[in-house]
Amino acid sequence: MNMTTEDIGAYIAAAGAKAWDVEGLDPATPQRDIKTVGIIGAGTMGGGIAMNFATAGFDVKIVEQKQDALDRGLAVVRGNYQRSCDKGRFPQDEVEARMGRFHGCLAIADLADCDLVIEAVFENMDLKKTIFTELGQVMKPGAILATNTSALNIDEIASVTGRPQDVIGLHFFSPANVMKLLEIVRAKDTSDDVVATSMALAKTINKIATLVGVCPGFVGNRILFARQIQANKLVYKGVLPWDVDAALNAFGFKMGPFQMSDLAGLDIGWSKGATTDNPIRDRLCELDRRGQKTKAGFYDYDENRRPIPSDVTTGIINDITGADPTQMSSDDILKACIHPMINEAVKILEENKAQRPSDIDVVWLNGYGWPPDTGGPMLYGDMVGAAAVLETMERLGADDPAFAPAQTLKELAANDGKFTEINTGGLKT
Ligand code: NAD
Repeated sequence: MNMTTEDIGAYIAAAGAKAWDVEGLDPATPQRDIKTVGIIGAGTMGGGIAMNFATAGFDVKIVEQKQDALDRGLAVVRGNYQRSCDKGRFPQDEVEARMGRFHGCLAIADLADCDLVIEAVFENMDLKKTIFTELGQVMKPGAILATNTSALNIDEIASVTGRPQDVIGLHFFSPANVMKLLEIVRAKDTSDDVVATSMALAKTINKIATLVGVCPGFVGNRILFARQIQANKLVYKGVLPWDVDAALNAFGFKMGPFQMSDLAGLDIGWSKGATTDNPIRDRLCELDRRGQKTKAGFYDYDENRRPIPSDVTTGIINDITGADPTQMSSDDILKACIHPMINEAVKILEENKAQRPSDIDVVWLNGYGWPPDTGGPMLYGDMVGAAAVLETMERLGADDPAFAPAQTLKELAANDGKFTEINTGGLKT
């Protein structure tokens, strides 16, 4: 399918506009009144999430367990505002006004009178359940209880609150004060007015929202995981991480899978001595190569944070995989990484965890830096054609059922159908 730059721009604009529509939601659904917002956790995400609300004029209560963690979190927030002020974006008064809307707290009970609370503590189900049990007990009736989990089951989190109708996922992206995307995750019992209020709030804080359903990783991360697994498989075949990244960089991603891993930190979900299902990562971490923050991960980093392919990493890979270094064309690397993303997106649509194909493109354009000139995974799928995607997936799925071709992919390939025209009939929870 050939499209002009103007056609693609028009598609992206229409997709962004459509994403606000919630199928089956009465436009007259009443909204809850949100004036005060509570944030639990003042770490990387909590601080950034809180900034969105303080910037938009909301009072924000932010909770940590210890005073020093709270002070650190608030200092990062102030530093971010101060840097924008120093660049001339707003006057010093505005920094003080925004900081004046923050109220630091040391107990969840201090949030009891907030209209909305967003939990952003460590990604751990037991911890989140403990916190949501307490929220169910202390929050005022009618408060919205949101979690920023990246991938955990929100139905399970909601089940401990005694009021699952008030629970929703508000999944922000890092850095949360900058990234435009907000995945709003509707759980099994989330009520219509909580959905309507969350969609409206997203607009108020200047985000681009998409409504998605509960599944591991929701829409964005679920597709990301598919790419990461295939990128790792390429390394086991002897393709070096920088060759994988280079192919994705040439496609238009600012960061490929291994550059992203180094930025996020290789030690997420790892602890010393651990043997996980990713032995290359384990070995790198044991050598204190934990990513950009330790100036070494898959790559070495110079003083300007420039990534340099590392002989140490090559040695570890050879040792663990036993594979001879292989040259693979950029085109073949791209197919191996991107076609599984398209296949996973189709499965998400088959399971009704996204409302429509264009929402998937909105998620990847605004949350993961998908290059706009190909419009997102679904539009790109139409550009290369379902038959080409099916051919790749028949190969990749042969030894891994998780990557078997989706039924709808087979149908599209047989009928010359389009990914962007898959009709889901709306979200199912
Ligand atoms: P983080 O480690 O930077 O921050 C977590 C904070 O929670 C810490 O400051 C910790 O002291 C605090 N905390 C822990 N238990 C607490 C409690 N009982 N009461 C109050 N505070 C408590 O982690 P993060 O990267 O901000 O991630 C937070 C959540 O956001 C996780 O669920 C993560 O999966 C999700 N998330 C992270 C990203 C990302 O890129 N970092 C993106 C999207 C979503």
